[in-house]
Amino acid sequence: MQGLYENISTLKGVGPKKQQRLLKLNIETLEDLLYHFPRGYEDRREIKKVKELREGEKTALELQVHPLKKRRSFGRGPSLLQLVGQDDTGRILITFFNQAYLSQKITPGTRLRIYGEVKRGPRGMEVANPDFLLLGDPQGSSWQEIFPIYPLTKDLSQKELVKLIKMLLDSLKEKDENEETFENLPRSLIRENKLCQRLTALEHIHFPRHAQGLKVAKYRLIYEEFFYLVITLNYKKAKVLVEEGTVLGGEREVQGFLKSLPFEATGAQKTVIGEVQRDLGRKVPMSRLVQGDVGSGKTVVAMAALVAAVASGTQGAMMAPTEILAKQHYGTLRQFLNPLGISVGLLTGSLTGKNKKRMQEKIQEGRVDVVVGTHAVISEKVEFQNLSLVITDEQHRFGVRQRKTLSKKGNNPHVLVMSATPIPRTLAYILYGDLEVSVIDQMPKGRKPIETKACPNSQRDTVYQGIKDELNRGRQAYVVCPLIDESETLDLNAATELHNRLKKNILKDYKVGLLHGKMTYTEKEEIMQQFTNQELQVLVATTVVEVGVDVANATVMVIENAERFGLAQLHQLRGRIGRGEHQSYCYLLHHEVKDHTLQRLGIMEKTNNGFLISEKDLEIRGPGELFGLRQHGIYNLKIANFFRHQNILTKVQRDVAELLREDPMLSLEKNRDLRSLLEDKLQRYRD
Ligand code: ADP
Ligand code: MG
Repeated sequence: MQGLYENISTLKGVGPKKQQRLLKLNIETLEDLLYHFPRGYEDRREIKKVKELREGEKTALELQVHPLKKRRSFGRGPSLLQLVGQDDTGRILITFFNQAYLSQKITPGTRLRIYGEVKRGPRGMEVANPDFLLLGDPQGSSWQEIFPIYPLTKDLSQKELVKLIKMLLDSLKEKDENEETFENLPRSLIRENKLCQRLTALEHIHFPRHAQGLKVAKYRLIYEEFFYLVITLNYKKAKVLVEEGTVLGGEREVQGFLKSLPFEATGAQKTVIGEVQRDLGRKVPMSRLVQGDVGSGKTVVAMAALVAAVASGTQGAMMAPTEILAKQHYGTLRQFLNPLGISVGLLTGSLTGKNKKRMQEKIQEGRVDVVVGTHAVISEKVEFQNLSLVITDEQHRFGVRQRKTLSKKGNNPHVLVMSATPIPRTLAYILYGDLEVSVIDQMPKGRKPIETKACPNSQRDTVYQGIKDELNRGRQAYVVCPLIDESETLDLNAATELHNRLKKNILKDYKVGLLHGKMTYTEKEEIMQQFTNQELQVLVATTVVEVGVDVANATVMVIENAERFGLAQLHQLRGRIGRGEHQSYCYLLHHEVKDHTLQRLGIMEKTNNGFLISEKDLEIRGPGELFGLRQHGIYNLKIANFFRHQNILTKVQRDVAELLREDPMLSLEKNRDLRSLLEDKLQRYRD
């Protein structure tokens, strides 16, 4: 096996300029070029007759050339070669610009095939600069029966790309002695899955000769892409497995903690706590993801794990994505853990220098059992005396790197990640490939599903009347403004404007506050405090409320321009209500009335189940959008699709599991090539 990581400039004809242009398409190496797949194909196999042509049509013709009509050149301007082609139904004028040399090749009587866009000119049909194939002389032509259409950039044409890729493939085929030189999948898997060879697949994806060949090529390339994704993640997992962490006990204390709760833990919570305890009792550090819908009670699971850590004489840390959320967790943890004799400290960016220093000392000396804070603060500056457990409340954020930084602290601490974006298990396994997955698939008793209704803007008055009704009953409300072009400033303007408008008009008799991302932590906290104390009845907010606002008396939410949000995000937002004993209502106001918008919002009306919703979101938008993974190297899939190719993914997962079961570190001789390719890839994707 051989990598293809040489720079693209090693190819003939690629100078600095072309290199720059290719770089714009993220093509840096030979491999990048080969994996720059067509986004579609033009089928040139169907040859039309001149008589059948329609204006504007792109089509293939087979013609005989008549004596040259004209040949002109305008001084130093473009040269012009015009000729007439004919088939048995009619004639067409063909013009070539700047290709005067063609007059040597294309002479009267020549038969050729052309492909181009047909226009109607003053004297009948015309075509300019078509692709062509001289029949009887196919050499050196970029002509393809099925012509690939590539994603392009300025100053780089389809033909140029075709030429480059073709040249590269040809030269690789020449060097490929035994069909294995450039193969990157284990022979056994190729045989077992009846995959075609890598070079064959690449040739057919770029230059397919027939539908069947293309299908076989695609299958192989999808398999390959999934294979590297899955094995990369699992190979890393295998590496972690050999490290040793701290064995934690504390079963009795965890039982005591559960008894101390003012409610009975749900069956799902108990199951997951059991899974966590089993992990903690092992030498191999835990890497576990707990998935649970908003409000399913993940914090109880986190606290149980912390109790186990402290009961075993060690420290635990809990990280949240925002200060508000960290503060909230701090409150909850103190409420439930202090009575058990466990001390809890808060560490966030807004602590003053002196207080921060004091807290850091306490942590270092082991005078604090549990530390709660924001990711950045905990991972950067703190030394722990004896850290054995790290919990991250990620919401739907993807904090692989932060997780890693923290794991380096202490003595290979156990890691528990909590995610509120429930996703199908197979996908979770991929996205969080280095983690085991637990699912809290049950809500605490007595929760009433939120009633959700999608309403066009024309019903805005009715919607706001609904809000007033709830406010008059003593409840509270959220009004959520949409993200605009992901610009915080614009968001802020929109939110401010809406806030003022509501205050002056529809909600002038109520106390309305504003919360947005540009406020300082203190300002946010003040507003939140006022809302919690019911000094404010309505909170107009940007999506900052998405994370971690917990006011049980809030029972209504209006989401403005709901069509701009993804379903998973709508679900997150909606999770801010329905947290107490009262029935809650969510209104999704929307502008456009496109069918698919209504269909999407309709899903929100029908279900409160986050797993179902994220599955739909995945189907509609794909995982890149859903999880903001576009930039993340290994997740940047070019041809495979998590949703559409689930079957192939499942097969790959099975194959990889078997391979690693036999040879976890890929140290057997037969896996040597694979291992070095993998190490190469890991190097390249390290961020
Ligand atoms: P999330 O999974 O969204 O983080 P939380 O842990 O914040 O959910 O729990 C949401 C609310 O439900 C909290 O007020 C919590 O005290 C309460 N809760 C958790 N578990 C139970 C349970 N088994 N029975 C009743 N209420 C519960
Ligand atoms: Mg939570």
